[in-house]
Amino acid sequence: MPAISSHTDLPASPSGTQTRHDRHGRYPRADTVDDFRHNLAVVRERIASACLRVGREPASVRLLPVSKTFDEAHVRLAYAAGCRLLGENKVQEAHRKWEATADLPDLHWSVIGHLQTNKARQVARFADEFQALDSLRVAEELDRRLQAEGRELDVFVQVNTSGEASKYGLQPEDVAAFLHALPAFPALRVRGLMTLALFSAEAARVRACFVLLRELRDRLRQDAPPGIGLNELSMGMSGDFEIAIEEGATVVRVGQAIFGARALPDSYYWPTAETTASA
Ligand SMILES: *Cc1c(COP(=O)(O)O)cnc(C)c1O
Repeated sequence: MPAISSHTDLPASPSGTQTRHDRHGRYPRADTVDDFRHNLAVVRERIASACLRVGREPASVRLLPVSKTFDEAHVRLAYAAGCRLLGENKVQEAHRKWEATADLPDLHWSVIGHLQTNKARQVARFADEFQALDSLRVAEELDRRLQAEGRELDVFVQVNTSGEASKYGLQPEDVAAFLHALPAFPALRVRGLMTLALFSAEAARVRACFVLLRELRDRLRQDAPPGIGLNELSMGMSGDFEIAIEEGATVVRVGQAIFGARALPDSYYWPTAETTASA
């Protein structure tokens, strides 16, 4: 793990906030609109408390509910509870749900998982946001398809902050050059950076990933190319979003704490995710 092991001076946790990865896979399933309202309220409480600890406004954090693996009926319950933008990790699944909910034109979709070039056309057609941009080939193909559709797309550049070899995302040292290539793709509206932290119960190591992303963003912002926005930091999920907020997250992607535990293990989404979070 090259990137993480270079963090010899882990930042002291300002609040002692712990991860909740021990809850991973144990969140109760939401099966009614009231369940969704309740879970959303609990998550918003957690967001507000984290903001309070570091003097941030809760309104400065956008909650992106992640509906992956949950069926259309549950998507509709989330919608009824007020959700208007949902995150999906896989393009095919997102596209299917978008088609199935065509009667809900104000329900929007954010693709938050790795994209293969041959799926760019689909994303260009239906997605309202893409958070996992990590190659120029995908940028080029997306831009071409978006122009053909007469659309633009909000994108986040995914950065590998955990040093895990097979996690997706650019290496931190490659992001500057990558950003300087992006103005060539005018249909992409670059909003900021996204990351998945190390999946670990050790809060200090998780926090180090978020600190790395924020510091990288702060450095890059000093000479970002014109039109490349770096205001957004998408980081934090059910088990670690409080820590992410303490370190500057403006978007948190939360699945299980809203929808309930998923049937499939995380290794299905993240090739190297440790499956034993309760350690
Ligand atoms: C599934 C997923 C999340 C949400 O994870 P939860 O543990 O369900 O909160 C966040 N980001 C990405 C990229 C995901 O695939």
